[in-house]
Amino acid sequence: MENCLFCKIAAKQIPAAVVYEDDELLAFKDINPAAAVHLLVIPKVHVATLSDCTAEHTAMLGRMLALAPKLAEEHGVSVVHGANGPSRGYKTLINSGPDGGQEVYHLHLHVIGGPKPWRGQR
Ligand code: AMP
Ligand code: ZN
Repeated sequence: MENCLFCKIAAKQIPAAVVYEDDELLAFKDINPAAAVHLLVIPKVHVATLSDCTAEHTAMLGRMLALAPKLAEEHGVSVVHGANGPSRGYKTLINSGPDGGQEVYHLHLHVIGGPKPWRGQR
C-alpha cells in the first residue's frame, strides 16, 4: 500500500526501533510512548483496520495477540502472580476508526505497560 506509514516501516523504508520480527509480523517501539513500555505489533501485509479483517486474517490476529505476552515478558511488564495477588501487567489495545481513536490506518496492536501513571491511558 503506497503512502502507508506502517507499510513503509514493514518494508524498512522508514526506520523504527524493531523489537520483534517474523515472516508475518513486526513489533516496534511507539515513537510517542504513553508509558515506559509502548510497543506496536503490526502485520506486514496491509490491513487498514480491524473492521477490514476477514476470516483469512483470523490466524494472523491470533498470532498478533499471542505475541503480546511474550513481548511483555521480554520488556519486564508481564503479570506476576504473587502471594498478595497479581502485580505489574500491561494493556493490549486496537483502536479502530475515527471514533475508536485510530490515527494510523494500518492495523496495529498497542502493548502498553510500566509504572503508572500512563499518559492518556488509565
Ligand atoms: P493509533 O492512534 O491507534 O492509530 O496509534 C498510532 C500510534 O502510532 C501512535 O501511538 C503513534 O505515536 C504511533 N506512531 C506514529 N508514527 C510512528 C512511527 N514513525 N514510529 C513508531 N510509532 C509511530
Ligand atoms: Zn499499510
